[in-house]
Amino acid sequence: MPNCQMSVKLISKPENILKTVYTACRTCYSALLPQEIFEGADDEEKMLKLITRVISSGHYSTIEHIQLSFAISNVSRACTHQLVRHRHMSFSQKSQRYVKEKGEFDYVMPPEIASNPLLKEKFEKHMEDVAKLYQDFVEAGIKAEDARSILPNATSSSLVASLNLRELIHLANLRLCTRAQLEIRMLIKKMCDEVVKEEPWLKAHLVPKCERLGYCDEDKSCGRMPQR
Ligand SMILES: Cc1cc2nc3c(=O)[nH]c(=O)nc-3n(C[C@H](O)[C@H](O)[C@H](O)COP(=O)(O)OP(=O)(O)OC[C@H]3O[C@@H](n4cnc5c(N)ncnc54)[C@H](O)[C@@H]3O)c2cc1C
Repeated sequence: MPNCQMSVKLISKPENILKTVYTACRTCYSALLPQEIFEGADDEEKMLKLITRVISSGHYSTIEHIQLSFAISNVSRACTHQLVRHRHMSFSQKSQRYVKEKGEFDYVMPPEIASNPLLKEKFEKHMEDVAKLYQDFVEAGIKAEDARSILPNATSSSLVASLNLRELIHLANLRLCTRAQLEIRMLIKKMCDEVVKEEPWLKAHLVPKCERLGYCDEDKSCGRMPQR
């Protein structure tokens, strides 16, 4: 019964992200038509200067035009439950009603437990017991949608998640903070890394909120930034 590894891939993004955001920003302040701005946009430095100014002054509609989709697998249901709290995202998640776990089920063990041999063994034993009980229920004719009631938060899941750039920046601000749980922090970091691989200019925006604010507004600070 495997303890599985998270995987995240950016599967869809628009072409011309930088030019599109620049066109949205410039349209607000220019007599030119949006298509003229788009066709004339060739100076990356100039585009980045305007975009940085517009984003930092909070004109976030300009970054809502960029829609991104990710294929995510081997994350725990605990993690996906946190992710789906974000209301400007769209999700299609593997169903525990329609997909029966077969004998064993994949799960995600938190690294802190995995690094302690005694606790790791207890964790694995519990997963085995649950898998056996789940199988007993299914064999007794209980539907997967009801048998799943006994599956743990650690059960692995997979999903396609889509969101616009504004929401990704918001997600990074909240979930890259060390106050967020490690698994969702790793998930959001991987999503941001996938985007930065394609669009390096976004690295400066995909940061924990303290980097945007210049201070920490959490009660319990990690000490990285001065507290408010
Ligand atoms: C470290 C951490 C700990 C947490 N602990 C808990 C916890 O113990 N219990 C718990 O229940 N949740 C907890 N959460 C979840 C948290 O309360 C939010 O539900 C989650 O982070 C989504 O944030 P959001 O509402 O800003 O984002 P999104 O839903 O992504 O929305 C983005 C932004 O859109 C705006 N918005 C969206 N919907 C509305 C609306 N209906 N009305 C007005 N404005 C809206 C807001 O400005 C919001 O910030 C935690 C989150 C973090 C990061």
